[in-house]
Amino acid sequence: MAEVLLRQVRKSYDGRTPVLHGIDLEVRHGEFTVFVGPSGCGKSTLLRSIAGLETIDSGEICIGGRPVQHLPPRLRDIAMVFQDYALYPHKTLFENMAFGLRLRKTPEAEIQRRVGEAADLLKITHLLQRKPAALSGGQRQRVAIGRAIVRQPQVFLFDEPLSNLDAQLRQEMRSEIKRLHQRLGATIIYVTHDQVEAMTLADRIAVLRGGHVMQYDRPQQIYHQP
Ligand code: ADP
Ligand code: ADP
Repeated sequence: MAEVLLRQVRKSYDGRTPVLHGIDLEVRHGEFTVFVGPSGCGKSTLLRSIAGLETIDSGEICIGGRPVQHLPPRLRDIAMVFQDYALYPHKTLFENMAFGLRLRKTPEAEIQRRVGEAADLLKITHLLQRKPAALSGGQRQRVAIGRAIVRQPQVFLFDEPLSNLDAQLRQEMRSEIKRLHQRLGATIIYVTHDQVEAMTLADRIAVLRGGHVMQYDRPQQIYHQP
């Protein structure tokens, strides 16, 4: 079943120049889909449109079979992880991870349980009372991922989450994200311009170019040299 369905999604920022030219895509339940393509091809715009952070000009976006193109981000069953982590500097890691649940009036015991489990999964339990400034880049990215996990969304959206990390951390976090996908059985859409990242993470890769999906297939099909 398609967990995320895009039908003829069109988007321009100025009302004239199309950035997305009628995107059709079906992302299946539990699959790890990576959007790749050169800078400026529309990856981030497409991801942000699925998240509801951008308004599309026309077309349909369904999450879990439900049209969401008119719903604000908080009413879509998604959680997004950003490249720059977007953590609250004055809150502890625990409160950073709990914030979205507090907004939704989740009971305190449930917050404790979910944050505890996510922290355990990401191996950051010992850091929960610290603030973001006291963390390394890799640790911050773990918190950002933890904040998404505690929401238990239907779909995870990752926007170039590893771009700010050095090569070794990138590799470490890549394995971490892959492990999380297997553990959670989650549907993930992940944007990167890094082919190695796409190859190692993806069940399926969507290759974008100039606002079109050129290919949508398994990595071995996409990078197979005839
Ligand atoms: P995003 O999808 O978040 O826009 P990009 O991969 O397009 O990320 O770009 C990442 C960063 O690199 C951005 O800050 C952007 O301004 C910059 N950038 C994009 N294209 C180029 C380019 N051709 N040369 C140099 N810097 C670029
Ligand atoms: P990618 O993520 O593949 O690098 P983007 O989705 O960031 O591509 O950008 C696609 C196109 O839309 C680019 O030409 C970019 O300059 C343009 N664009 C992106 N964000 C904005 C914005 N907020 N306002 C106007 N143009 C934008």
